[in-house]
Amino acid sequence: MINRPRSKTAIFVVASLASVFPGLTARASGDTWQTVAENTAYRKTSTYDETIAYCRRLAGTSLWVSFSLFGTSPQGRGMPLLVISRDRAFTPSAARKTNKPVVLIQNGIHAGEIDGKEASLALVRDIVVSKRLEHLARHATVLVIPILNVDGHERTSPYNRINQNGPDEMGWRATAQGLNLNRDYMKADAPEMRALLGLFNSWKPDLYVDTHVTDGADFQYDVLYTIESTGYVAAPIAEYVDRVLQPMIRPAIERKGHIVESYFNLRDPADLAKGIERQVFPPRFSNGYGALRGRPVVLVETHMFKPFGVRVRATYDLLVEILSAVEARPGDLLAAVRSADAEAIARGRVVDPTRPVPLRLELTDANRIVRFRERTLQFSRVKSVERAGSGTAKRHRTSKFRCTTRSVSRARSLLHSRTSFRPSGMTSSAASRSTD
Ligand SMILES: [Zn+2]
Repeated sequence: MINRPRSKTAIFVVASLASVFPGLTARASGDTWQTVAENTAYRKTSTYDETIAYCRRLAGTSLWVSFSLFGTSPQGRGMPLLVISRDRAFTPSAARKTNKPVVLIQNGIHAGEIDGKEASLALVRDIVVSKRLEHLARHATVLVIPILNVDGHERTSPYNRINQNGPDEMGWRATAQGLNLNRDYMKADAPEMRALLGLFNSWKPDLYVDTHVTDGADFQYDVLYTIESTGYVAAPIAEYVDRVLQPMIRPAIERKGHIVESYFNLRDPADLAKGIERQVFPPRFSNGYGALRGRPVVLVETHMFKPFGVRVRATYDLLVEILSAVEARPGDLLAAVRSADAEAIARGRVVDPTRPVPLRLELTDANRIVRFRERTLQFSRVKSVERAGSGTAKRHRTSKFRCTTRSVSRARSLLHSRTSFRPSGMTSSAASRSTD
């Protein structure tokens, strides 16, 4: 599919897409670097073999790209990794010598939620081939895992994610062993997870991105994302997220026309009136694990009812803004991570039986206001997190939230009116849960 001969129809499709997604169709005229998604007007996503071929081609074309396999799945598939470095620092030790942040972009941990793979391949192309975005690799080493759950990726069906609006066929959530990798970070049962943790330990990425698609509720946002900065997150990381990362990402992504909000769930899928709330992510999840390791983690969740092309674009734009934020202030990220590491090491050197350790995080009734289109919703704000350890308990402020009943009644009318992205024949799913 990648290098197929062009027909008049294909040229027309490329030209049409170029007008809609100029950033994703680099050099549309005569371009042989279109991704499978771009080549099919976002009806298809690349197979494993097509993905590997595209990665190898990137590495074969650009001196800035290295391609390798960092693990093997139970069904024998290699787990792909792209390293993008203008210094050709393709190993952890070489990358450390550059004194530049390492950013890890991970896609397809849930293989049916594959927007991030298409967005990442297009992004790497735009950095190293068209070089339209070459500055994004100027002050960072960028690692891209196009597909983490490689076996699940090849278990394709139109019905694997029945409510998801494209591509035509998609992969499966769990691995060939039936394991959900995004619940496996602590127990590490899956060979894929052990390979990922090995990669994490060797590269020690300074910023970690994990891309998904939502599972349920219908709402106007095309992309939700969460960067943990409360509760158990190391203070230097929380400070970097709140002071540097979020203020740079959020306005920039909204300027590009996206409707964004922090990732949330319905409190009760069967009763919208109970409102919405943020989720607390323990370290068996990617973002909880990254927080535990003292790293800022961006959990990306595009909205499943939006068309595949819209979702890929949202992921692409968000990845661009994340890398732009790193590019603009690389020293701030490095300082935050090094400070978090130093604090963790210092704590490990002193036995303090009175030191609280967070074992459980709970939402409280505190709230904040968030926008819901032209209106506002009243959210409750978390007032405390209980920390328990060595027989002590302390309260720690955080910012979880949930929606009040009155506001949800307005939200419900909007939810039911927003059906334009719903595939034909789909029943109302506004009451289904929005887990990743
Ligand atoms: Zn997911």
